[in-house]
Order: sequence, then structure tokens, then C-alpha cells
Amino acid sequence: MQLPDIDIGLSEEDLAVRETCHRFARDVLRPVGRELDRLQDPAQVIARDSVLWDVFRQYRELGLHEVFADTTMDPAARARMMCVINEELSWGDVGLAITLGLSQFHQPWVEQSGDAALRTRFCDPARLTIGCWGLTEPDHGSDTVSFTEPCFDDPKLRANCIARKDGDHYVINGQKAAWVSNGSIADIAVLFCTLEPERGFRGGCVILVPLDLPGVERPRPLDKIGQRSLNQGQIFFSDVRVPASHLVIGPDVYPFALEGMLCHGNAGMSQLFIGVARAALDHALEYAQERIQGGVPIGRHQNVRARLFRMFTKVEAARALTRRTALYLAVNPPSIQHAIAAKVFSTNTAFEVASEALQIFGGNGLSREYPMEKLLRDARASMIEDGCNEMLGLIAGARIQGF
Ligand SMILES: Cc1cc2nc3c(=O)[nH]c(=O)nc-3n(C[C@H](O)[C@H](O)[C@H](O)COP(=O)(O)OP(=O)(O)OC[C@H]3O[C@@H](n4cnc5c(N)ncnc54)[C@H](O)[C@@H]3O)c2cc1C
Repeated sequence: MQLPDIDIGLSEEDLAVRETCHRFARDVLRPVGRELDRLQDPAQVIARDSVLWDVFRQYRELGLHEVFADTTMDPAARARMMCVINEELSWGDVGLAITLGLSQFHQPWVEQSGDAALRTRFCDPARLTIGCWGLTEPDHGSDTVSFTEPCFDDPKLRANCIARKDGDHYVINGQKAAWVSNGSIADIAVLFCTLEPERGFRGGCVILVPLDLPGVERPRPLDKIGQRSLNQGQIFFSDVRVPASHLVIGPDVYPFALEGMLCHGNAGMSQLFIGVARAALDHALEYAQERIQGGVPIGRHQNVRARLFRMFTKVEAARALTRRTALYLAVNPPSIQHAIAAKVFSTNTAFEVASEALQIFGGNGLSREYPMEKLLRDARASMIEDGCNEMLGLIAGARIQGF
């Protein structure tokens, strides 16, 4: 059963794209996500013969990657369509939705660099190139995003990944944490690292690093409880040299660039986890009709009905905030407090709704035969992903007070 979407702003084109995405999510992402989730070894997820590569092929055949890269579309129309795409794909499998969306993360940064060779190599629409975003370090997670906190300026917090200028090149040494999504499969990293350590994390920069360069090493991918279809892995840099033209953002504007990136990243996350919450609600509604207790479907029992209504209300409220934020950000400067509010509310909603849905499944909710335990694991990761919700709350709490 698909509940009606009461968003009156969707165009005919949005509705057609939604239908296409829904079929892809139902017929491909959901079964493949389930299959990849069950693989014991995360290296199998990205193996040469993995079904993951077929998912990338089908995504591109549907032309969904073109919406992401389209700079000619009206920004508000594009934002609305991205809300639809993100929600629908993650309804199928959020790990795969993230892997697919993030694969193009590098493209606007490459465009911004103005480096023609990079553009030819990494932005050719005819070829699949995979990007990733490397910020988190083994010793610094929240530290790297805490630009409203005093620790962000503290040079004593020694970064794990440092770039230095050497003539007309930058030389990179150190490592990024195992949390880098697409880290093991990416062709290029948008690397957020430290260039002026004496300024602490404020002395950061953004450098584009092709990941086949000498000195780059990527050990085994990360094994984790949720979003197992999403590859994540460490990246080590040992005297990796890139031309100076690969530097997109220097320390003077780095905090603004980081805030802008986090703002748009959080807005995207909020859209993705509406899909997870909705998937949990849909499963629960179906199960409430099928499961008989006391001689009637459990959905007829008053407290199951009340629980379903609570879940429905949360999903609708989270979606409304998410879409409103996306439409605002499409045509206005970043407003990180709104993006964080949407991300935190949406990811908390996904976790709460998945947990409520699991309860409706009773014991079956705990069984791997049923979809609920996976949704709960997938949703749980989102409260840490792209910034712990608590740390994000500190940032937004500072901004709404004007500092
Ligand atoms: C599924 C997933 C995908 C991810 N993808 C990427 C990616 O693509 N690229 C990337 O670079 N990173 C990625 N990350 C990493 C993510 O951004 C970090 O995990 C996150 O920023 C938290 O860092 P940490 O795990 O080191 O936790 P820590 O920073 O060590 O936090 C531990 C605990 O301490 C609390 N805490 C920390 N500092 C403070 C403070 N100042 N005040 C109050 N409380 C505090 C936190 O809220 C948390 O509860 C991903 C993470 C996940 C789970």
C-alpha cells in the first residue's frame, strides 16, 4: 500500500520521476540491499563480481545521475526533484541510495577547480567515476566539524592528515578514518585536510586527490552494523603529490566552505532518512493487516492503531520540514540551523519509527526473516553519520543565538 503524498508542489515530471525511482527501489535496490546486508565480509560488497556494479549501471541507465549534475535546471525545481529521488531510493535501501548519490559528490568541486584535466577525467557523463568526501580522522570526528566551538581553533589538537605546499604542488601525509563513505571504491577524494596546523582545524583546505596516485593506500573496508551496502574505508596518504590547481578551498575561506558543505549534506541526509522512516511505516501498515491476534488483524487493536498514527504523524512532520528546508536552500545562502534541524529531526524520526514498527512486528521484528531489524540498524547509523546529532545540535544552537 502506498500512502498518498499530499505535497501539492510536485510537478507532473516529479511524479513521473518518483514512479521510476519507486520501481527501481522496489525491484532492484531493496532486494540487492538485503543481499549485500547479509554478506559476512564487507569486501564482498565491492568485489568485482558484486551485484553493486549492476546497481550503478542501472542507476545510470535510468538517467538519475543526470539530475544531480544538471546545472541548467531551475534550482527550486531541481531541489524538489532531488527530495523525491532521495526519499524514494532510500525507501528501497538507504546504503545504496547514499553510495549512488555520493558517487557524484566530487563533480561540483572539480568544476570549481577549473582544472580541465580533472574535469575530463572525472566529470565525463559517459563514464562512471566515483567520488567520496574525506573529512573524519581516526583521532578527530566531531572536532573536524565543530566550527562554532573553541576547540576548532586549537593547534594542540593535532590533525591526522596534513597538506603542505611544495613549489607548484601540495604534498599530503596522514590518513582519513574508516568512515569515509565510498572510501574503498572512489576514484577521487574531495579531501578536507589541514594546511595551516598552527590555526587548528580552522586552518583547513579542500584538495582534490585522484586515488590512483602513488602513496595512496586503502586497506580493507569497514565492517559495521547498519547501512552495510554502503562501502566505507580508510585512506592513507604517504607523500602524495598533487598539482596546486587541485586546491579548491584555502584556509581563509575553509570554515565557510565547511559550513556550506555540512549544510547541504545535512539537508540531503534529511531527505534520505524520510525514505527509511516511510519504509518502516509501510511495512508496519502491511503487517498490521496480515497478523491476526485475538481473532482480528492487529491493526484493529486500539493501541496498534494509535501507534501507527503516531508513526504517520512523525513521517509527515519530518517530510514537511525536510522539503521546506530543501526549497529554501535552493535559492538562498546556507542556513545551517535549518539544515541541521531537518537532519536531526528526520534521522531521529527514522530511528523512532523503525523502532515502533519493529514493536508492531512483535518477535518477528527481531528476526532476520523480516525487514525491520535491518531498517532499525540502517536508521541507527544516521544519528552519527555526517556529524553526531548532539554535535550538530551544538552548532545549530550557536547559530540560532547569532554566534
Ligand atoms: C554511516 C556513516 C557514514 C559516514 N560517512 C562519512 C563520510 O563520507 N566522510 C567522512 O569524512 N565521515 C563520514 N562519517 C563519519 C561521521 O561524520 C563521524 O562519525 C561523526 O562526525 C562523529 O565522529 P566520531 O565517530 O569520531 O565520534 P566522536 O566525535 O568521537 O564522538 C563521540 C561522542 O562524543 C560526543 N562529542 C564529541 N565532541 C563533543 C563536544 N565537543 N561536545 C559534546 N559532545 C561531544 C559525540 O556527540 C558522540 O556522542 C560517517 C559516519 C557514519 C556512521
